[in-house]
Amino acid sequence: TPPRQRKPDWIRVKAPVSEGYSETRKLMRELNLATVCEEAACPNIGECWTKKHATVMILGDTCTRACAFCNVKTGMPRAVDPLEPEHVAIAAAKLGLEHIVVTSVDRDDLPDGGASQFVKVIEALRRETPNTTIEILTPDFRNKHEAAVEAIVSARPDVYNHNLETVPRLYPTIRPGARYYASLRLLEQVKKLDPSIFTKSGIMVGLGEQRLEVHQVMDDMRSAGIDFLTMGQYLQPTPKHATVEEFVTPDAFKAYASIARAKGFLLVAASPLTRSSYHAGDDFQKMQAA
Ligand code: SF4
Ligand code: SF4
Repeated sequence: TPPRQRKPDWIRVKAPVSEGYSETRKLMRELNLATVCEEAACPNIGECWTKKHATVMILGDTCTRACAFCNVKTGMPRAVDPLEPEHVAIAAAKLGLEHIVVTSVDRDDLPDGGASQFVKVIEALRRETPNTTIEILTPDFRNKHEAAVEAIVSARPDVYNHNLETVPRLYPTIRPGARYYASLRLLEQVKKLDPSIFTKSGIMVGLGEQRLEVHQVMDDMRSAGIDFLTMGQYLQPTPKHATVEEFVTPDAFKAYASIARAKGFLLVAASPLTRSSYHAGDDFQKMQAA
């Protein structure tokens, strides 16, 4: 096996040592909430948590799937925590979040895939922090997605995010439990059910995708009515995970971003350290103010 590629200079991150960081961590522990920031070993955690921006991961910290890029642990998850929706709302209030991103593990073991928990979280947030805009980042709900999406859309989040993660050719190795077109159709369904909800999706690059394949994904997304796009560099969380095929340069990200804007996305975030929830609130608010 070849040695792990060294990270280039542009993948530089601040160490997580600040008061905001410790306070965010303490609050999440007290409320028994998992975050994707920690579970996915996100490189931005120092920056985000210093500003008290955290992305909550509901439905536990254990996933029923094992995607080749993802650091979240796999196994048989615990029972759903009935206090979780209230705890998410308390966290949003205490962190003073103007925009919250709520995601989850995949719960292929639950009859509704966890959709009703998303609904309860949205309801709790609307009740306790009515001024916070809500972005949810959901799994694909496999073969239950129509009912799941209908339920969640009825609860009216501001942004419905679901990541395509990579180009369709790489699905069998990178995202084996999922189907590219099913994920696209899920987002299309959101837009059809309620055009006032912004739809959002993202991919990681550096997994061996070709430029033209990425352009094709952008076209597919626009055909499905997707409004916002995020693109970031894939980083291998542990040696067991998929290897990095390429470190995409900041200039190449800029080129992708201008192509994406030309294709009509309302919001585009593309840089090496962009993640689905990175600066999500700032970007969303700027767009609404414009
Ligand atoms: Fe958490 Fe998202 Fe920031 Fe990463 S980019 S630390 S996942 S809020
Ligand atoms: Fe990670 Fe989501 Fe895949 Fe589960 S389904 S392993 S949380 S990317």
